[in-house]
Amino acid sequence: MSRNNSNAQMCRETALLYAGYRHDPVTKAVSVPIYQSTAYELDGDLEKIAGIYNVNEDGFTYSRIINPTTRILEKRFAAVDGASDSLAVASGQAATFLAIANLCSGTPGDNVVTSKYLYGNTWNLLFNTFKRLGIEARSADPKDISSFESLIDDRTIAIFGETFSNPCLVPLPVPALAEIGRRHGVPVIVDNTTTPLICRPTSLGASISTYSATKYLCGHGTTLGGLIVDNGNFAFDDAARFPLFNEADEAHGDVLWKEAVLKLDDLGASPYLLKSRMTWLRDTGAAISPFSSFQLIQGLETLHLRMQRHCENAVTVAEFLKKHPKVARVSYPSLSSGYERELVDELIDARVGYGAMIMFELADEAAGRRFITNIKLMYHVSNVGDARTLVTHPVSTTHTTVPKEKREAAGIFDGSIRLCVGIENIDDIVADIQRGLDAV
Ligand code: PLP
Repeated sequence: MSRNNSNAQMCRETALLYAGYRHDPVTKAVSVPIYQSTAYELDGDLEKIAGIYNVNEDGFTYSRIINPTTRILEKRFAAVDGASDSLAVASGQAATFLAIANLCSGTPGDNVVTSKYLYGNTWNLLFNTFKRLGIEARSADPKDISSFESLIDDRTIAIFGETFSNPCLVPLPVPALAEIGRRHGVPVIVDNTTTPLICRPTSLGASISTYSATKYLCGHGTTLGGLIVDNGNFAFDDAARFPLFNEADEAHGDVLWKEAVLKLDDLGASPYLLKSRMTWLRDTGAAISPFSSFQLIQGLETLHLRMQRHCENAVTVAEFLKKHPKVARVSYPSLSSGYERELVDELIDARVGYGAMIMFELADEAAGRRFITNIKLMYHVSNVGDARTLVTHPVSTTHTTVPKEKREAAGIFDGSIRLCVGIENIDDIVADIQRGLDAV
């Protein structure tokens, strides 16, 4: 009996285990092999080999650009996310960098309209590093959708934001931004790092999703990686805004990316990702190692089970904190109300849950410090998406150097504590939080 991995019929839980690979064609090994090889022998017909280099044919050349283990990760995750294809890179930061840089024209005027609520390093990437490269970031407020539209001009290359911002959990109005993007011909890029399976930006109209695969996709805090996902709904036809998608690209032998994909089977699903792979990934060297790709494939296998458990635990913790007399405020999507609650319900699949990140407020900085120094089980670590519960007091760690007015404008106060709830037994998590609060 022949079996295939036709992704079309698979549910997401099944795609996490099957999409893109069934077994090794020679050994029939079920587990995805780690192709820890830098290069691939260029044997056979030289015309064919030249065709691979010229993107006239599919094939493997050099692992900075393409690798068989990584390619399985890319195809598997694209199937899970309901997208046309994905590109794996070295980290979440590399994913954000390449996702945006791939759209720039390289002439003054390129700009990105971005939510002002962002993970700190992403904020720096957009507002400092991209500025030095001639790409301007324009700051908009997801609580006021019109602030995005008013900043768009004919050189806006993307609208950007995080599904639920890290660490303040401000929800991004993805469907409304997608509508604005459609009207202006601008793609929406969503960093969905903290809500894989919970939110599916593809189905909400986003054009590109990015992930720090380092977090939940990996799940065990062992491996750095990033994914850029092309949802396949944006054509990049506006030649004034996206010249490098509509003209011969001298960065790769004067290729026209839209025509190149027509000749390819494996890499033919996304001109956006083909261009990114063959120019930006090739030139920046932001490649993921095959071993890391293997680790992420292992993580994906249990993603749906872990996400469900993360979310179940997080709801219990959020409810516990809400009732606690020493806690002034709790931010967690299921606790929101009014317009924000309606938006949360639009963004998430409640069958999975509301995510595992919680922000809560203690009275002041001293209370935050007492909490963080008295917990015993949870890890005091500035990371997200480990199987273990992680906790940070931003003011005494990640945000020590950020001026008070700036961090308060971003929603981080002296007594703010961020929790990323893990998959331990819930009683142990709650007992540790209670221990910390007893010391406050
Ligand atoms: N995006 C978000 C929302 C994050 O939380 C992080 C890291 O914490 C990143 C991107 C960057 O990911 P990485 O550390 O894999 O570069």
